[in-house]
Formats: sequence, C-alpha cells, structure tokens
Amino acid sequence: MTVVTMAPVPIMQFQRRRLREELDKRIAGAREQDTRLALLVINLQEFRQVNISFGHQVGDQVLEQVSARIAAALRIDDMVLHIGNDEFAVILSDLKGVQVAQLAAEKILAGIAENHAVAGQMLAVCGRLGAAVFPDHASSRDELMRAADSAVQFAADHHRDYAIYDASTRLQERDSADLRGSLREAMDNDDFMLYYQPQMNLQQGVLSGCEALSRWKHARRGWINPEVFIAAAERSGLIDELTYWSINVALRKWFEFERPGPDTSISINLSARLLHSPELVGMVERATNIWGARRDSVVLEVTESAMMSDPKVALHTLSALHEMGIRLSIDDFGTGYSSLAYLKKLPVSELKIDKSFVIQMAENRQDRKIVQSVIDLAHTLDMSVVAEGIENRQVLDMLVGMGCDYGQGYFIARPMSDAALSEWLETDELALLEHRAR
Ligand code: C2E
Ligand code: CA
Ligand code: CA
Repeated sequence: MTVVTMAPVPIMQFQRRRLREELDKRIAGAREQDTRLALLVINLQEFRQVNISFGHQVGDQVLEQVSARIAAALRIDDMVLHIGNDEFAVILSDLKGVQVAQLAAEKILAGIAENHAVAGQMLAVCGRLGAAVFPDHASSRDELMRAADSAVQFAADHHRDYAIYDASTRLQERDSADLRGSLREAMDNDDFMLYYQPQMNLQQGVLSGCEALSRWKHARRGWINPEVFIAAAERSGLIDELTYWSINVALRKWFEFERPGPDTSISINLSARLLHSPELVGMVERATNIWGARRDSVVLEVTESAMMSDPKVALHTLSALHEMGIRLSIDDFGTGYSSLAYLKKLPVSELKIDKSFVIQMAENRQDRKIVQSVIDLAHTLDMSVVAEGIENRQVLDMLVGMGCDYGQGYFIARPMSDAALSEWLETDELALLEHRAR
C-alpha cells in the first residue's frame, strides 16, 4: 500500500499534482488491462472548527490520524493523498465493480468517525465522500476528478455521508444548474416574494414582530423549498442580491405601509456569505435610511454555524451592525457548535432555539431540558430568547412556564403574504394571541 506521509503539510505541498500524475498513470494502466479504478474524494466536515477550537497543532495530529485510518481501510495497491486543507483523495485500483467503491467508502468513513484521542481530548471528526469510477462514469482524468467532486457536492446537498456518481447525480447536477439559471431569471423578473411569520411575546400575549421569509414560485415546478433555492443562491453567488432585495422589501413593507405597532420588530435572515461582504454594513445603513426604519426594530438573524465558522469575521461585521443600532439574533441555536467564549463577545441580543428541539418538546424530556438550558443560557448572557416551531398549545404553555420570551410557529400563525398579514392584523389578531397565551 502506498501511504503518503502526513507530517503537517504546508499549503504548497498538498498533493494535487501528485494526484493528477497518479491518475494519468493508473488510467493508462486500466485502459491497457481493461480494468476499472475509482477516485474517492473525502472532505472532513467542519474541520476548521477543530483548528479554531483546539489549535493547528491538534488539527495536524487529527489529520495524521485520519490519513492513517483511511490507509488502514485500503488494500495494498490503493493510495491516499492529502490534497487540500481538509481534503483527501483515494485511488482504488483494479476495482471489481462499482459496488466495491461503495464498500470502501463505508469502511473509510467508519474508520474516520471513530473518536480521535489527541492531546488528552477525544475529538469526533466526520467525513463526507464522493466517488466516481473509470471508465463507468468518466473517460479521462479530468472528467473523473469532476465526477468525484460533483458526487461530494451531491452528498453535501442531500445531507448524506457519501455519494457515488451515477446517472441520478448527473441529473441532479443538471437540475441544480437549471435552478441556478432560473434563479437569475426569477431575480430579473421580480418573481420572489416575502412571506411574514408573526412572532409573539409569550409572557404578555401580544404580537412582537414578524420574520420575513423568502418565497419563490417557479413557473413550471411550482413552489420551490426555500432551503433548496437559498442553497442554490449561495453556491451561485446570487445570495447577496437576494438578501439585499429581501432587506429592502421587508423594510419598505414594515415601515412604510404595514407597521403594526411601535414596539414590533422585523426579522430578516442573513446568509453566512454576507458576513464576509464589505458592502453589507453600508447597504443596511442605506436601506434603513431610505425606508425610515427605526434601527432598533430591525433584527438580522444569522445562523449559529455561520457565526462560528469564522468568529473573527463575524465579530467584525456584527459589531459594525450593532454600532449602527441594528439588533442581531443567532438562528438555529443548538444545531451548531458554539464557543461560549465567542458567544459572550458577540454583540447579539437574541437566541433563537432551533425548531428541532421545540416541535416535540411536549413528548421528549431531552428536548425539554435542552430548551430550558438555552433559555437559561440566553438570560445569563442578557439575551432574549425566541422559540420557533411551536405547533400546538401544549408546547406554547410549556414555553410560557419555562420563561421563554418570544415564540413563533404554526400554532400562532403560519408564514403569509403581506396581503394576508394585513388582514390577519386587522381582524382578531390580538384577541387571538391573548387567547393563545392564556
Ligand atoms: P429559518 O430561518 O429557521 O426559518 C424558519 C423556518 O421554519 C421557516 O421555513 C418557517 O416556515 C418554518 N416554521 C415556522 N414555524 C414552524 C412550525 O411551527 N413548524 C415547522 N415544522 N416549521 C415552522 P422556510 O420558510 O421554509 O425557510 C427555511 C429556511 O430558509 C429558513 O430557516 C432560512 O434559513 C432560509 N431562508 C428563508 N428565507 C430566507 C431569506 O430571505 N434569506 C436567507 N438567507 N435565508 C432564508
Ligand atoms: Ca430565521
Ligand atoms: Ca431557525
């Protein structure tokens, strides 16, 4: 077995070139002998977090262990190469069939997933893998590399640990390219809409604000799941435009026409990518000026994982927004990997408990405990706390009793168009909320 050494690898020494050379050599051999070979690309998920939390020395030791674990899963003629920061490639030679690549993938991922004991810590690392086979999926080295990369992307998009390149991957690829094209068109044609989901002050039983959520009705496919088109917009770079559009539309609606009371706020989702945009802060400033928005009524929601993936950048951008008077909220709290040290430093005024802990909390004691500890944590840090995903009265009552400040969910109201919101606000909204809070 050829295992290439894994001593801390400076950027320049990642073995991409070596990979291309090996593939050329082995593809030529496979052509000659009429055999198959597979290329597996493995990314370590959220590995940056290990470096941030434990330092590069620990990170490098984990990489060494990962490389050794991969090697242990391979046969004598196979090869593992470290091709990027948190990226490895494996070449399986003389493959009997495509299913063998699948077996190897499972074995490799199981090896990586076993805890890593490094510097007195037990660390969990998770790999994501994409595989493609020559000549079944590709007829040249570059095609094979592209196919393996697109299989990893497919796995990531579908929240899977691994994917083997196949016809459906290819279809999916075309599909998502298609979606990106239509996204551009939709943006140019103004086909996006904002829906608004009311939020309630749980302790007082009154409306506290709304969250703006993007909607897209595709001419042929109908309603597209926001998580799908937001992910496509993020990959294609259109997310900046989409976010600027939603900030402007939301502020215009809220402050020009519909604003339902002086103490209510409008929450808008901010994609992770925008935290890196030098234009964000100026853009938010202009938008609040144009639409006459009170800045302390504007809440920007950023997911926990976006904040924690690069806390220094997040701190910089969020501090600038905070100084302008904008309120900030950590979305999907509990699903990421928060460092309490950073949490304390971030100028954030609100935590949103992810709906996955709330939806079932009446039946699930574990969820209830998590929700209570997030409420306590938020209050300890002088933040308010919003529970999302309130789907029934029992959960609503529980949250009131647990001291949760705000809530949002289908039991209170579903996201709705601006016209529906106007009607909802005019009719019996307050009476309804009071009734629900009782
Ligand atoms: P999110 O920010 O966590 O938004 C909350 C999601 O939970 C919304 O899904 C909402 O419809 C749903 N929800 C609300 N109450 C309940 C409930 O009681 N039960 C259940 N099961 N679900 C509930 P939606 O609208 O599909 O949005 C999904 C995600 O897409 C959002 O998650 C957000 O991450 C993203 N998103 C939506 N609009 C935008 C946008 O304009 N910009 C960005 N960057 N992301 C957006
Ligand atoms: Ca949100
Ligand atoms: Ca959320």
